[in-house]
Amino acid sequence: MKRSSHLAALRDRLLAERARLRQLLGGVEAELSSLAGPRPAERAENAQQEGSVAVLTDLDEREWRALDEIEDALARIGAGTYGVCEACGWAIPLARLSASPATRFCLACQAERERSQRKERRPR
Ligand SMILES: [Zn+2]
Repeated sequence: MKRSSHLAALRDRLLAERARLRQLLGGVEAELSSLAGPRPAERAENAQQEGSVAVLTDLDEREWRALDEIEDALARIGAGTYGVCEACGWAIPLARLSASPATRFCLACQAERERSQRKERRPR
């Protein structure tokens, strides 16, 4: 298969994943607003429910980030820059794209970024 056909397949996967996340996030938002109901005093007494609000909020943030990355990837497909590492400018191998379609970096640059982020977090 040509690279362009692979990219078309990846685009379909990104579109499907975006639809799934949008639906999921729609459900989470609805559940959050029902949990956050009109009686906060009663809600505070219920620790278990407070816990589930935290879990939902946490899930929410992660899923929103994933959705953002997918939107970015789809925009890059539109712009014709998808599948190119943003750090070194080389084509990202299809195997890597197929494992994580929304990635912006090749494996080497991703590893490099994670190394330097660790360094920033723990200076000397
Ligand atoms: Zn790279």
